[in-house]
Amino acid sequence: MANIILEEVREKLKPQNVTLVAVSKTKPNEAILEMYKEGQRVFGENRVQEVAAKYEVLPKDIQWHVIGHLQTNKVKYIAPFVSMIHSIDSLKLLKEVNKQAKRNDRTIDCLLQMHIAEEDTKFGFSNSEVTELLKSDAYQGFENIRIVGVMGMATFTDDKEHVRQEFKTLRYVFENLKLGFFQNNDTFSEVSMGMSGDFEVAIEEGSTMVRIGSLLFGKR
Ligand SMILES: *Cc1c(COP(=O)(O)O)cnc(C)c1O
Repeated sequence: MANIILEEVREKLKPQNVTLVAVSKTKPNEAILEMYKEGQRVFGENRVQEVAAKYEVLPKDIQWHVIGHLQTNKVKYIAPFVSMIHSIDSLKLLKEVNKQAKRNDRTIDCLLQMHIAEEDTKFGFSNSEVTELLKSDAYQGFENIRIVGVMGMATFTDDKEHVRQEFKTLRYVFENLKLGFFQNNDTFSEVSMGMSGDFEVAIEEGSTMVRIGSLLFGKR
């Protein structure tokens, strides 16, 4: 049953070559393996313990993306294997990711999480905060992280136009950061936006990476 939905989602992502992050948080290994058999390799999780446990037993060519708020003291548990962190929301966190990546002799791809929603509860940088970070000496010295783009979560609402405006804002922020800080840097290329309820709007507004959970795996 999930396969039909997976096929439908893939059809919608294909024209723009959008990456699908299958959000498997709370879902058992069997459900992940089923999707793996259908060729899915990128999975998103938001709990450190959970993703570390899944990494141990599931196929090693799975790319694990951490998408939820990450505590600094837990970075060490994912640093050996995580493929991308979507939720960088402070300089302190980025510093720790750099440190742990170095310890593991790796470079970790990171997205800067931008605050685009109305709710106070969603994490993320403001424009001025992100500019400050990218200008900081500390950031210039990080050699084991790569900033590959931005991530954002829209307001939880049925108002599609409102959501569209927030996605437009994120795409605009991405373009501005590219001009200001990453002009000759092709790796700064990702705009992670869109979930089960709003990914079609996100694609129309220039998403390059959607994070889809419940639509693929069923309700949590
Ligand atoms: C859970 C989660 C998703 C997926 O949400 P669905 O509505 O189930 O598609 C996407 N992004 C983040 C950051 C999440 O925590």
